[in-house]
Amino acid sequence: MDFDAMFTAQLDALKEEGNYPIFAELERQCGAFPRARSHDEDTPDQVTVWCSNDYLGMGQHPTVREAMKDAVDRCGTGADGTRNISGTAHHHLVLERELADLHGKEGALFFTSGYVSNWAALSTLGSRLPDAVILSDALNHASMIEGIRHSRAKKVIWNHNDPEDLDRKLAALPANAPKIVAFESVYSMDGDISPMAEIVEVAEKHGAMTYLDEVHAVGLYGPRGGGVSEQLGLADRITLIEGTLGKAYGCMGGYVTGSAAMCDFIRSFASGFIFTTALPPAVAAAATASIRHLKVSSDERRAQKAQVAQLRAKLDAQGIPHLDNPSHIIPVMIKNPVKCRMLADILMRDYGIYVQPINYPTVPKGPERLRFTPGPLHSDADIDHLVAALTTLWKQCAIAHAVA
Ligand code: PMP
Repeated sequence: MDFDAMFTAQLDALKEEGNYPIFAELERQCGAFPRARSHDEDTPDQVTVWCSNDYLGMGQHPTVREAMKDAVDRCGTGADGTRNISGTAHHHLVLERELADLHGKEGALFFTSGYVSNWAALSTLGSRLPDAVILSDALNHASMIEGIRHSRAKKVIWNHNDPEDLDRKLAALPANAPKIVAFESVYSMDGDISPMAEIVEVAEKHGAMTYLDEVHAVGLYGPRGGGVSEQLGLADRITLIEGTLGKAYGCMGGYVTGSAAMCDFIRSFASGFIFTTALPPAVAAAATASIRHLKVSSDERRAQKAQVAQLRAKLDAQGIPHLDNPSHIIPVMIKNPVKCRMLADILMRDYGIYVQPINYPTVPKGPERLRFTPGPLHSDADIDHLVAALTTLWKQCAIAHAVA
């Protein structure tokens, strides 16, 4: 059998529809974020990154870098083993205590990524709670969807951000079945924020537990970076808060927080926790430093907010349409995969602006977009340069037709 021919046929189809993934070869310039050195031909040597999920530039922060370097010097590079067998280090447990404190919970568990934490926690809860039903927001992230699927629990999808639909669907379920309402705070691609208070209220009315993904909110929202649930004073009413250390905290890894009993349960049964080598202690040390910094410093959050508002206002002034949302994510809708790719290529080649086209499968086919994430380290001049470039291209490429 010619397996390569089978692979190539499917890849060719992706290329044909404009959804073949192409990555930029960049080298971050430490201390100069959001600048990066480009190793690609036909691009300027130095480019400005406009689509980073290191939303606050904490991956470059001197305190975070020092914490990682110091831990490497003291503990070495690897973790030694899985969490269950020799891989749990002091730094992991310090981080877990820090995370529990961040969300005001009794316990926390550190996983190798946010993806794994969602997958492992939901698959464990759904499979181990007898007759569990998981009610999943229609736009939940792939990691939650995969975890729910793997659990083989009954799944009910409720309309995106629609507590009334959730209420109806909960009411139709057997009263004594354990129910888990899974949703996010900030949705990563549209940048909309869930009506958390209403969702929590509906879940409480039906005795359901709440499972909240705050991956795109931790570090960024709330006075200590505890996410939208902290900002709204709802954290103590959410059963499980899940997050990442790979985005606003600039490191790597994911986590869940909740009651001591629930964390112990997941720790004891989740294969995604048990059967994989733990992240290096140095990563945990860096993440702890990053969380501690953002618990007491709001400078980065304030500066980010200002740059987000500035970019929105300047796009509006030029008539460049973007999704209206209350978050830090600015999606400029292109609605065509080929044009989206082409615009991103031109921005990179002619303007030194790196923004990855967001095409299928990251979003469904149709709402392709350029997703901008302004941060505290983007200068006013960076914003002006981006808006000028987009304005020129908007006119040149007659994008208006594609979005009409
Ligand atoms: N949840 C959401 C909503 C996400 O967008 C992502 C990743 N983009 C994850 C979970 C996974 O987090 P991580 O990148 O840490 O694996």
